[in-house]
Amino acid sequence: MECELCGRAGADKRAEVEGAVLNVCERCSSLGKDLTPVQITQVNKKPVPKLPDELEVSVIPNFSDIIRKTREKKNLTQQQLAANIKETMSSLRRIEEGWEPPLTVLQKIERELSIRLLERVSAGKSTALAKKPKLTIGDMIEVKV
Ligand SMILES: [Zn+2]
Repeated sequence: MECELCGRAGADKRAEVEGAVLNVCERCSSLGKDLTPVQITQVNKKPVPKLPDELEVSVIPNFSDIIRKTREKKNLTQQQLAANIKETMSSLRRIEEGWEPPLTVLQKIERELSIRLLERVSAGKSTALAKKPKLTIGDMIEVKV
């Protein structure tokens, strides 16, 4: 579509110029009152929802300590616990040293020892954690006041 003001191609804006609503290009839209429904376009661009299963679960920070302490409390050796969850003893040793295994392995340990190693994090909370706070100029002014 051609701009009704300058004739340039690519008039994807609507603007009210001196009482007349015209199809105008980006540049000419600033001459009048921009009627392009910008906000509706933005609402349509919703962020793609994250996969719930992968992102809503987080491993608690001291999982390795909890595994080791609970195992010792139940008088199980690393070998016995490893056999119960069908993992090798060397993986279990690494887990107790702080190596984070796949979630499925942690879930087996959870069931075997009746403990909780995984936390459900709400989608909103994980988004907040993922985003580092960024001060805008407005925030900085407010901080000074
Ligand atoms: Zn124009």
